[in-house]
Amino acid sequence: MAHHSAPATIIAPTSRPHDGFQTSRVYDELGMQRDPNNVYLQSIDAVLTAAEMLNLPHYLQLILAQPQNETMVHFPVKMDDGNYALFKGYRVQHNNALGPYKGGLRYHEHVSLDDVKALALLMTMKCALVRVPYGGGKGGVKCDPYKMSRDELMRVTRRFAFAIAHMIGPDTDIPAPDVGTNAQTMAWFSDTYATISKSVPDAMAVVTGKPVEVGGSLGREKATGQGVVDVLAEVLPELKLDFAKCTASVLGYGNVGSWAARLAAQRGCKIIAVMDHTGALRNDAGFDTEALAEHVAKHGGVAGFEKAAGKTKGVGGTPISTKEFYATKVDIFIPAALEQMVNEESAGWMDCKVVAEGANAPTTPAGERLLLKRGIEILPAILCNAGGVTVSYFEWVQNKTKSAWDIEKVDEELNRHMVMAARRTRLARQKYECDMRTAAYIAALENIGKAYQLRGIFP
Ligand code: GLU
Repeated sequence: MAHHSAPATIIAPTSRPHDGFQTSRVYDELGMQRDPNNVYLQSIDAVLTAAEMLNLPHYLQLILAQPQNETMVHFPVKMDDGNYALFKGYRVQHNNALGPYKGGLRYHEHVSLDDVKALALLMTMKCALVRVPYGGGKGGVKCDPYKMSRDELMRVTRRFAFAIAHMIGPDTDIPAPDVGTNAQTMAWFSDTYATISKSVPDAMAVVTGKPVEVGGSLGREKATGQGVVDVLAEVLPELKLDFAKCTASVLGYGNVGSWAARLAAQRGCKIIAVMDHTGALRNDAGFDTEALAEHVAKHGGVAGFEKAAGKTKGVGGTPISTKEFYATKVDIFIPAALEQMVNEESAGWMDCKVVAEGANAPTTPAGERLLLKRGIEILPAILCNAGGVTVSYFEWVQNKTKSAWDIEKVDEELNRHMVMAARRTRLARQKYECDMRTAAYIAALENIGKAYQLRGIFP
């Protein structure tokens, strides 16, 4: 394990503590395969690396290496054409030492058990890092929400809620939106749960990210993007970067990417390249991030924005290739799409100073090693995108206390949580002389380790 000398500035990239992969004896003890391309193994490997550095007891490393519960359900739904389709749903409950399981529901055609396991583990670490009293969970349905009608989506959501209702609840496991789901999905979900769980108090608090009219919190929709921006604002000065003079690329223009872009632009940062599943665009003058968000909401992606806005010269930008998108020289690169998009190949093209991970697990270990070697700072997902779950926690507190916070209070509390999490990560980094991801895991594991020490293991 090669440690590197203390960084010159307070925050400077250092390489991962070891470049080997899956060296922990936990793999053999649990009979786990070693597969560098598996997103779950990648995630647990980074956590175990941090656990070793922290000297976390071995029994705890074993516990955290697998989720507590993994549930798969199959349920039929009548489609608009009259035929029935059978859907596969998941809910993985990784750990609840710090509080109820917490984490989103993803609707995507590539949802798989290992994917959901990785995301559940990341939720455990995220909640522990930002100090919200939750454990980690994740769920999803394997489907393509863009190919379904609104009614079909509602029926899928209601049947899925029914299928997992017995294992979730406002005090046990609290889902939320994720890729492919939104506030409307949460409204259907909580309505179904409340309808079939009449004796459960505060049944609507079974999910967060609800519309404000049915128990949602002000500020929840923009919260993840806002958290990304709050972390950047805290960290950039130490990298000798002035947010108001920065340029940025945003990968993915959904909830997280579009809000991160809009809020960064409000601070003067110029968003000069964007890409999503429909295409990539560049605009050196800086995109009109609001207009782009409206375009995406209407057309499903960034493609065509150059034509839609084309009458005003330069406003919409010009189409570029995938490679040109990654290679655009910027200060900040924000991956806010799916997992594994910053890999060895794309990391080699990237020309930025800092990567702010808006998505969960957007960077592969090979991609990360390359970025760190090239001196590029990576602000890890469990820090950068924790704003969503933080405001989810505020929503849950409001539901439980029958109160409604104003937006100023939400924003202020969110900022405090994000800044404290960034400082915790920085302190761990200084103490353990490691990269930011390992440091964030160390800061999270310290919290979980203390809880286990105090609670002990039953019986
Ligand atoms: N799906 C979001 C995440 O990955 C939010 C989870 C939540 O609010 O519970 O962090």
